[in-house]
Amino acid sequence: MSSAAEIAQLPKVELHLHLEGSLRPATMLDLAERNRVDLGATSAEELTAQYTFESFDDFLHLFLQGLTVLQTADDFALATAALAEELAGQNVRYAEVTTTPFNHHRRGIDMAAYVEGLNEGRRRARWDHGVELGWICDIPRELEPPELGFTADLITGPDAPDGVVAIGLGGAEIGFPAELFEASFGRAIDSGLGSVPHAGETVGPESVWGAIRALHANRIGHGVRSMEDPALVDFLAETGIPLEVSVTSNVLLRVVPSVEEHPLRRLLDAGVTVTLNTDDPAYFSTDLNSELQLAYDVHGVTIDELKQLQRNALEASFAPDLFKRTVAADFG
Ligand SMILES: [Zn+2]
Repeated sequence: MSSAAEIAQLPKVELHLHLEGSLRPATMLDLAERNRVDLGATSAEELTAQYTFESFDDFLHLFLQGLTVLQTADDFALATAALAEELAGQNVRYAEVTTTPFNHHRRGIDMAAYVEGLNEGRRRARWDHGVELGWICDIPRELEPPELGFTADLITGPDAPDGVVAIGLGGAEIGFPAELFEASFGRAIDSGLGSVPHAGETVGPESVWGAIRALHANRIGHGVRSMEDPALVDFLAETGIPLEVSVTSNVLLRVVPSVEEHPLRRLLDAGVTVTLNTDDPAYFSTDLNSELQLAYDVHGVTIDELKQLQRNALEASFAPDLFKRTVAADFG
């Protein structure tokens, strides 16, 4: 059997992908037409041609612009169901999907409609596509004032979406350190949620240490710049705090110079718990099968190792134990 066929067959778990970064061009154009939003493109090709990034800030600008196509409960449900259909096609059994409530609130979207859409989309994921979803609601570092506590209020309150498993932290890492968000994370953790900040992507090891010490991170989004501090690599290996690695994202956003120079293999060799992810698959024209194939082709990650990375992801997830055991049995 070819490696591609083996990878396609492998049951999978994904822990780091953004709902708002998963809208494929066709879905994006449909939603834009429905809501009369001008994206400056009328075909999938024209839209994809806009997806070139010189920097993380470039990407962030495009990402925020893309949100404008999501307006009603129906839109959020459709986006979620479309993502689930795609995940099902790659044999992904379970995914923890990040979404950013404050980014929608600040542009005037009714939070009740947003939550209703997420709930309906998650139901369709389960019943129509057989994919179980958990939500990670993240704080956009540069946009949500830390003292506001908006995201923590929503996800710890009575009007939270169904299936929220953790609080996250995304957006611009430079200038907005983890320590600013200690209070929001503390409240989320106290209410039983996990802690999954992005760190060590556009800022170095000090950002990862901040995520661990101030935010008690259960996992680190990206974390690839941990490689710059051997003591941090040792700490990650010893504690088993997993990294959510997204190779294509890191290359396209210039976190690393090339796929070949990505530290994936070095992290594995150092004994760090790694999971493989797509981050914003629509903007980076990737999917989970492609990320696994890249690891296999370029970094010599064997099929057995890829299976282990899927087990890592399942283990590192916030899925209920019984569900984890059921999926683990499928891993063989
Ligand atoms: Zn991300």
